[in-house]
Amino acid sequence: MKSEAIGGPGAIRAAPLGAARCTGSTLYSRAVTHVLAIANQKGGVGKTTTAVNLAASLAAAEQRTLLIDGDPQGNATSGIGLTREALGATVYDLLIGGAVAAEARHRAVQFTHLDVIPATPDLAGAEIELIARHRRDQAMRDVLAPIAAEYDYILIDCPPSLGLITINMLAAADALLIPVQCEYYALEGLSQLLNTVHLVQQSVNELLSIDGVLLTMFDGRLNLSRQVAADAREYFGPKVYTNVIPRNVRLAEAPSFGKPIILYDVTSAGALAYMAVAREMLERHRSASAAAERRASTSGKSGSGGRERHAQASGPADRVREEAVRRRGAIGQQASDRSSGGDDESPGIVPREPTAL
Ligand code: ATP
Ligand code: MG
Repeated sequence: MKSEAIGGPGAIRAAPLGAARCTGSTLYSRAVTHVLAIANQKGGVGKTTTAVNLAASLAAAEQRTLLIDGDPQGNATSGIGLTREALGATVYDLLIGGAVAAEARHRAVQFTHLDVIPATPDLAGAEIELIARHRRDQAMRDVLAPIAAEYDYILIDCPPSLGLITINMLAAADALLIPVQCEYYALEGLSQLLNTVHLVQQSVNELLSIDGVLLTMFDGRLNLSRQVAADAREYFGPKVYTNVIPRNVRLAEAPSFGKPIILYDVTSAGALAYMAVAREMLERHRSASAAAERRASTSGKSGSGGRERHAQASGPADRVREEAVRRRGAIGQQASDRSSGGDDESPGIVPREPTAL
């Protein structure tokens, strides 16, 4: 795919990275790349743990997977076993330094089917340096375009913020996976995240959708955990993954050994849970593709996998979204301020009425 297909003034109409390759094949189709940003601006909710372990589980299931560390903390990089000395080009070099993804990726990291693009604390500088860049909110999209077709899944670990790095990751993604920790105030702030999603949809990535919500650090013995899970299912309906990730000490230990949980302790509750989530994800995507195929064949239209995924993804989160609409003004203003900071020809992040998720 050429980068002009996803940038410039026409960016608002851009297809997702996977869409142009949707040839209508089914069952864990290799013709469609799912680009998932794993994001929640709340810190410590399990984004990185999910990115690393879901990527490992998908790769173990022979899905060609690329894990991108989009967080200057570099936790996904070390968690998957890459040491600082082994790193060449990083996400910072891709976004700012003109490096190309095909050269920055580490091939077959721990699994035959797992590639990784690492990050270091340098990436923090990109938050500022991107502001003055042309196509500042689409840099990651441009970087991924040449290699996306090589993968079934691209998982991007986002930082705990809604700044320009996260916006870049959302602009490059087909969908957002939101880990929600089963703790106090778990859902607080999600309206802000959803509002950012709306802003990205309305400016650089119209087809961004919500893939799902993943409940993390669940402890079935605690009323609190059960209550948070019930609230999330009420707000987000079937978007919430049926499988939950339990609080499990082995999951917390694994990163210090630079191993995903399925290599650290495959029989642990954490490993079983991430493998179950990976299976559920594959099944969901397979059903969505099959439904899209049926719709396409009935309507006589072909092709637009991304649009179909988007349509299929609409519906839930009304209450959270209503709150998002209420808060839209303030957040939209911040984003608008960012947009007016450089000489970008792209529409940037412009606040408008939100569309359905
Ligand atoms: P940040 O916002 O800082 O990037 P994060 O959302 O990526 O954080 P993680 O780093 O994945 O969150 O997890 C935060 C901490 O909780 C880590 O120490 C991690 O090992 C631990 N942790 C994550 N998930 C679990 C779990 N299911 N059970 C036990 N510990 C967990
Ligand atoms: Mg993290």
